[in-house]
Amino acid sequence: MKKQYAVIGMGRFGSSVAKTLSNMGFEVLAIDSDEHRIQEVSYIVTHVVQADSTDEETLRSLGLRNFDVVVVAIGQDIQASILTTIIVKEIGVPKVIVKAQNELHGKVLRKVGADKVIFPERDMGTRVAHNLISSNIIDHIELSDDYSIVEIRASRPMVGRSLRQLDIRARFGCNVMGIKTGDKMNIAPYAEDLIKENDVLVIVGKNEDLETFEKTFAE
Ligand code: ATP
Repeated sequence: MKKQYAVIGMGRFGSSVAKTLSNMGFEVLAIDSDEHRIQEVSYIVTHVVQADSTDEETLRSLGLRNFDVVVVAIGQDIQASILTTIIVKEIGVPKVIVKAQNELHGKVLRKVGADKVIFPERDMGTRVAHNLISSNIIDHIELSDDYSIVEIRASRPMVGRSLRQLDIRARFGCNVMGIKTGDKMNIAPYAEDLIKENDVLVIVGKNEDLETFEKTFAE
Protein backbone atom coordinates (compact mmCIF):
# COMPACT_ATOMS: atom_id res chain seq x y z
CA MET A 1 0.00 0.00 0.00
CA LYS A 2 1.15 3.51 -0.79
CA LYS A 3 2.36 5.59 2.10
CA GLN A 4 -0.05 8.05 3.64
CA TYR A 5 1.21 11.59 4.14
CA ALA A 6 -0.13 14.51 6.12
CA VAL A 7 1.29 18.02 5.96
CA ILE A 8 0.45 20.52 8.68
CA GLY A 9 0.89 24.20 7.76
CA MET A 10 0.27 25.36 4.20
CA GLY A 11 2.83 28.16 4.02
CA ARG A 12 5.20 28.28 1.03
CA PHE A 13 7.17 25.28 2.28
CA GLY A 14 4.31 23.06 3.46
CA SER A 15 2.18 23.68 0.39
CA SER A 16 5.14 22.89 -1.85
CA VAL A 17 5.67 19.56 -0.05
CA ALA A 18 1.95 18.74 -0.23
CA LYS A 19 1.62 19.66 -3.92
CA THR A 20 4.73 17.74 -4.92
CA LEU A 21 3.60 14.58 -3.11
CA SER A 22 0.18 14.94 -4.66
CA ASN A 23 1.60 15.40 -8.16
CA MET A 24 3.62 12.24 -7.64
CA GLY A 25 0.39 10.35 -7.03
CA PHE A 26 0.41 10.09 -3.25
CA GLU A 27 -2.56 10.72 -1.01
CA VAL A 28 -1.99 13.81 1.06
CA LEU A 29 -3.95 15.28 3.91
CA ALA A 30 -3.29 19.02 4.20
CA ILE A 31 -4.07 20.74 7.49
CA ASP A 32 -4.06 24.47 8.22
CA SER A 33 -5.93 26.70 10.64
CA ASP A 34 -6.31 29.34 7.94
CA GLU A 35 -9.29 28.81 5.66
CA HIS A 36 -7.71 30.68 2.73
CA ARG A 37 -4.53 28.62 2.83
CA ILE A 38 -6.64 25.46 2.77
CA GLN A 39 -8.68 26.71 -0.17
CA GLU A 40 -5.55 27.45 -2.17
CA VAL A 41 -4.38 23.83 -2.04
CA SER A 42 -7.78 22.15 -2.11
CA TYR A 43 -7.70 21.74 -5.91
CA ILE A 44 -4.43 19.84 -5.80
CA VAL A 45 -4.23 17.68 -2.69
CA THR A 46 -6.54 14.76 -1.86
CA HIS A 47 -7.93 15.89 1.48
CA VAL A 48 -7.91 19.25 3.18
CA VAL A 49 -8.95 20.10 6.71
CA GLN A 50 -9.16 23.43 8.45
CA ALA A 51 -8.01 22.73 11.98
CA ASP A 52 -5.74 23.93 14.74
CA SER A 53 -3.00 21.33 15.02
CA THR A 54 -2.34 22.17 18.67
CA ASP A 55 -5.72 20.62 19.50
CA GLU A 56 -4.98 17.00 20.31
CA GLU A 57 -8.59 15.82 20.05
CA THR A 58 -8.92 17.22 16.55
CA LEU A 59 -5.75 15.51 15.36
CA ARG A 60 -6.87 12.21 16.87
CA SER A 61 -10.30 12.50 15.27
CA LEU A 62 -8.62 13.02 11.89
CA GLY A 63 -7.10 9.57 12.27
CA LEU A 64 -3.57 10.91 12.16
CA ARG A 65 -2.21 7.77 13.78
CA ASN A 66 -2.83 5.89 10.53
CA PHE A 67 -0.42 8.11 8.63
CA ASP A 68 3.10 6.94 7.89
CA VAL A 69 4.66 10.37 7.66
CA VAL A 70 3.60 13.75 9.01
CA VAL A 71 5.39 16.94 7.97
CA VAL A 72 5.00 19.84 10.39
CA ALA A 73 5.62 23.01 8.37
CA ILE A 74 4.67 25.72 10.84
CA GLY A 75 7.43 28.30 10.96
CA GLN A 76 6.65 31.56 12.73
CA ASP A 77 4.63 30.18 15.61
CA ILE A 78 7.37 28.16 17.29
CA GLN A 79 5.15 27.20 20.20
CA ALA A 80 2.51 25.76 17.85
CA SER A 81 5.20 23.88 15.95
CA ILE A 82 6.58 22.29 19.13
CA LEU A 83 3.16 21.44 20.55
CA THR A 84 2.05 19.93 17.26
CA THR A 85 5.20 17.80 17.11
CA ILE A 86 4.64 16.49 20.64
CA ILE A 87 1.02 15.63 19.92
CA VAL A 88 1.74 13.94 16.59
CA LYS A 89 4.50 11.83 18.15
CA GLU A 90 2.25 10.93 21.08
CA ILE A 91 -0.48 9.83 18.71
CA GLY A 92 2.09 7.36 17.38
CA VAL A 93 3.02 8.58 13.91
CA PRO A 94 6.23 6.67 13.01
CA LYS A 95 7.94 9.46 11.07
CA VAL A 96 7.53 13.12 11.93
CA ILE A 97 9.51 15.66 9.91
CA VAL A 98 9.52 19.21 11.20
CA LYS A 99 10.65 22.49 9.69
CA ALA A 100 12.69 24.56 12.14
CA GLN A 101 13.06 28.33 12.20
CA ASN A 102 16.51 28.33 13.84
CA GLU A 103 19.02 26.11 15.64
CA LEU A 104 17.39 26.46 19.06
CA HIS A 105 13.97 25.60 17.66
CA GLY A 106 15.60 22.60 15.99
CA LYS A 107 17.16 21.43 19.26
CA VAL A 108 13.83 21.56 21.07
CA LEU A 109 12.14 19.68 18.24
CA ARG A 110 14.69 16.87 18.45
CA LYS A 111 14.22 16.72 22.23
CA VAL A 112 10.45 16.34 21.92
CA GLY A 113 10.81 13.49 19.46
CA ALA A 114 10.91 14.88 15.91
CA ASP A 115 12.40 12.15 13.73
CA LYS A 116 13.92 14.64 11.32
CA VAL A 117 14.41 18.36 11.63
CA ILE A 118 14.90 20.42 8.50
CA PHE A 119 16.11 23.97 7.96
CA PRO A 120 15.04 24.83 4.41
CA GLU A 121 16.26 28.44 4.41
CA ARG A 122 19.62 27.63 6.00
CA ASP A 123 20.23 24.66 3.72
CA MET A 124 19.24 26.50 0.57
CA GLY A 125 21.55 29.35 1.65
CA THR A 126 24.45 26.90 2.00
CA ARG A 127 23.72 25.44 -1.42
CA VAL A 128 23.51 28.80 -3.12
CA ALA A 129 26.76 29.93 -1.46
CA HIS A 130 28.58 26.80 -2.63
CA ASN A 131 27.29 27.30 -6.16
CA LEU A 132 28.57 30.88 -6.06
CA ILE A 133 32.05 30.01 -4.82
CA SER A 134 32.73 27.62 -7.63
CA SER A 135 30.98 27.84 -10.96
CA ASN A 136 31.66 24.11 -11.32
CA ILE A 137 29.58 23.15 -8.30
CA ILE A 138 26.12 22.26 -9.53
CA ASP A 139 24.63 21.06 -6.28
CA HIS A 140 25.58 20.53 -2.67
CA ILE A 141 23.65 18.32 -0.28
CA GLU A 142 24.50 18.25 3.40
CA LEU A 143 24.40 14.72 4.84
CA SER A 144 25.39 15.86 8.33
CA ASP A 145 27.30 18.76 9.85
CA ASP A 146 30.55 17.27 8.56
CA TYR A 147 29.67 15.34 5.41
CA SER A 148 28.17 16.32 2.07
CA ILE A 149 27.54 15.14 -1.44
CA VAL A 150 28.54 17.53 -4.24
CA GLU A 151 27.80 17.49 -7.92
CA ILE A 152 30.73 19.06 -9.69
CA ARG A 153 31.24 19.67 -13.38
CA ALA A 154 34.50 18.23 -14.69
CA SER A 155 37.01 21.05 -14.90
CA ARG A 156 39.77 21.21 -17.52
CA PRO A 157 42.40 19.62 -15.23
CA MET A 158 40.15 16.53 -14.90
CA VAL A 159 39.13 16.04 -18.53
CA GLY A 160 40.81 13.13 -20.33
CA ARG A 161 42.10 11.61 -17.12
CA SER A 162 40.88 8.51 -15.31
CA LEU A 163 39.76 8.27 -11.68
CA ARG A 164 42.93 6.28 -11.03
CA GLN A 165 45.07 9.08 -12.42
CA LEU A 166 43.22 11.70 -10.41
CA ASP A 167 43.61 9.50 -7.32
CA ILE A 168 40.75 11.30 -5.59
CA ARG A 169 40.25 8.81 -2.77
CA ALA A 170 43.87 8.74 -1.66
CA ARG A 171 44.58 12.45 -2.22
CA PHE A 172 41.38 13.94 -0.83
CA GLY A 173 39.66 11.15 1.10
CA CYS A 174 36.54 11.64 -1.06
CA ASN A 175 34.64 9.02 -3.00
CA VAL A 176 33.31 9.40 -6.54
CA MET A 177 29.87 7.79 -6.35
CA GLY A 178 28.87 8.39 -9.92
CA ILE A 179 29.64 10.14 -13.19
CA LYS A 180 26.91 11.75 -15.26
CA THR A 181 27.45 11.99 -18.99
CA GLY A 182 24.52 13.85 -20.52
CA ASP A 183 21.40 11.99 -19.40
CA LYS A 184 23.31 8.82 -18.55
CA MET A 185 24.41 8.12 -15.01
CA ASN A 186 27.25 5.71 -14.32
CA ILE A 187 26.76 4.74 -10.69
CA ALA A 188 29.64 2.28 -10.53
CA PRO A 189 32.55 4.06 -12.18
CA TYR A 190 35.71 2.05 -12.81
CA ALA A 191 39.12 3.38 -11.88
CA GLU A 192 40.02 3.42 -15.56
CA ASP A 193 36.92 5.35 -16.73
CA LEU A 194 37.99 8.54 -18.45
CA ILE A 195 36.38 11.82 -17.51
CA LYS A 196 34.98 13.68 -20.49
CA GLU A 197 34.22 17.33 -21.04
CA ASN A 198 30.84 18.32 -19.51
CA ASP A 199 30.75 15.19 -17.32
CA VAL A 200 29.39 15.72 -13.83
CA LEU A 201 31.03 13.94 -10.88
CA VAL A 202 28.94 13.04 -7.84
CA ILE A 203 31.29 12.97 -4.87
CA VAL A 204 30.76 12.18 -1.20
CA GLY A 205 33.17 13.28 1.49
CA LYS A 206 34.01 15.38 4.50
CA ASN A 207 33.26 19.06 3.91
CA GLU A 208 36.86 20.19 4.38
CA ASP A 209 38.13 17.46 2.01
CA LEU A 210 35.53 18.38 -0.59
CA GLU A 211 36.60 22.02 -0.35
CA THR A 212 40.25 21.07 -0.90
CA PHE A 213 39.15 18.99 -3.88
CA GLU A 214 37.08 21.87 -5.30
CA LYS A 215 39.98 24.31 -4.92
CA THR A 216 42.56 21.93 -6.38
CA PHE A 217 40.52 21.39 -9.52
CA ALA A 218 39.19 24.93 -9.87
CA GLU A 219 39.96 26.49 -13.25
P1 ATP B 1 6.74 29.47 4.81
O1 ATP B 1 6.76 28.02 4.50
O2 ATP B 1 5.85 30.24 3.91
O3 ATP B 1 8.11 30.06 5.00
P2 ATP B 1 6.45 30.06 7.58
O4 ATP B 1 7.62 29.31 8.06
O5 ATP B 1 6.51 31.56 7.55
O6 ATP B 1 5.98 29.53 6.18
P3 ATP B 1 3.96 30.29 8.81
O7 ATP B 1 3.46 31.12 7.68
O8 ATP B 1 4.10 30.88 10.15
O9 ATP B 1 5.27 29.56 8.45
O10 ATP B 1 3.03 29.01 8.97
C1 ATP B 1 2.75 28.19 7.91
C2 ATP B 1 1.29 27.83 7.94
O11 ATP B 1 1.00 27.15 9.15
C3 ATP B 1 0.35 29.01 7.85
O12 ATP B 1 -0.49 28.83 6.73
C4 ATP B 1 -0.43 28.97 9.16
O13 ATP B 1 -1.80 29.29 8.96
C5 ATP B 1 -0.28 27.53 9.58
N1 ATP B 1 -0.40 27.35 11.02
C6 ATP B 1 0.20 28.06 11.99
N2 ATP B 1 -0.17 27.63 13.21
C7 ATP B 1 -1.03 26.60 13.00
C8 ATP B 1 -1.77 25.72 13.84
N3 ATP B 1 -1.69 25.79 15.17
N4 ATP B 1 -2.55 24.79 13.26
C9 ATP B 1 -2.65 24.68 11.93
N5 ATP B 1 -2.00 25.47 11.08
C10 ATP B 1 -1.19 26.40 11.60
